[in-house]
Amino acid sequence: MPPTGNQPSLRKIGILEVQGAFQEHKVALMKAKACLDVIIELEVMEVRHPDHLVSDMDGLIIPGGESTTISLFLKRNKMEEPLRTWIQTKGHAVWGTCAGMILLSKFTENQKDGGQPTLGMLDTVVSRNFFGRQVHSFEAQVTIKSPSLSTSGTECHGVFIRAPAVLKTTSSEVTVLAVLERTEQKDSVIVAVQQGDVMATAFHPELTEDLRWHVYFLTMIENAKMQT
Ligand code: GLN
Repeated sequence: MPPTGNQPSLRKIGILEVQGAFQEHKVALMKAKACLDVIIELEVMEVRHPDHLVSDMDGLIIPGGESTTISLFLKRNKMEEPLRTWIQTKGHAVWGTCAGMILLSKFTENQKDGGQPTLGMLDTVVSRNFFGRQVHSFEAQVTIKSPSLSTSGTECHGVFIRAPAVLKTTSSEVTVLAVLERTEQKDSVIVAVQQGDVMATAFHPELTEDLRWHVYFLTMIENAKMQT
């Protein structure tokens, strides 16, 4: 007997597969879909070539790695323009983690010598290796600023690996989703932002058991689809 009633909608999410935590993001997405109010089917696909940027792909994750290596890969494979076009198409949502945040930002500080091209999708000034090149990685509690993300507490565990930070937002369209409050420096550093259908986190939620960020991204995809 063929199934009756409404079929769950199929959502396709690409993960830029150059370096970084492809598998971890995939596992987290698959778990996160069960936490949504709506029932969806999920197909996670590798993105390594301009032809992979199909218009019926709904979301894209740009994982961590080395932003210089990733941007070189994008240039060599002639993916920069197709990526910008795909991101700007209504109904598509993007999430950059760590190096992905650098690649999405319009302005970057502490670039490698000779400059470093970015996709320029977020009105932010991002500093590479903000916490110091020597501090390879650290873990700290992150303060969540967005009510939609603080469903189970206003903190989340942040894994930072030679992480960037947002020094400044340059448009009122950018919402701060999370900050890192540093007691020693007595400051508050922006570590997660959203502008429309584009999100960036300086830390790696895919390396923790906390699914809130993946659930939030899936919600962003649903919202982006509703606008089309
Ligand atoms: N520091 C790296 C860069 O500049 C980012 C590190 C990461 O993605 N974990 O690209």
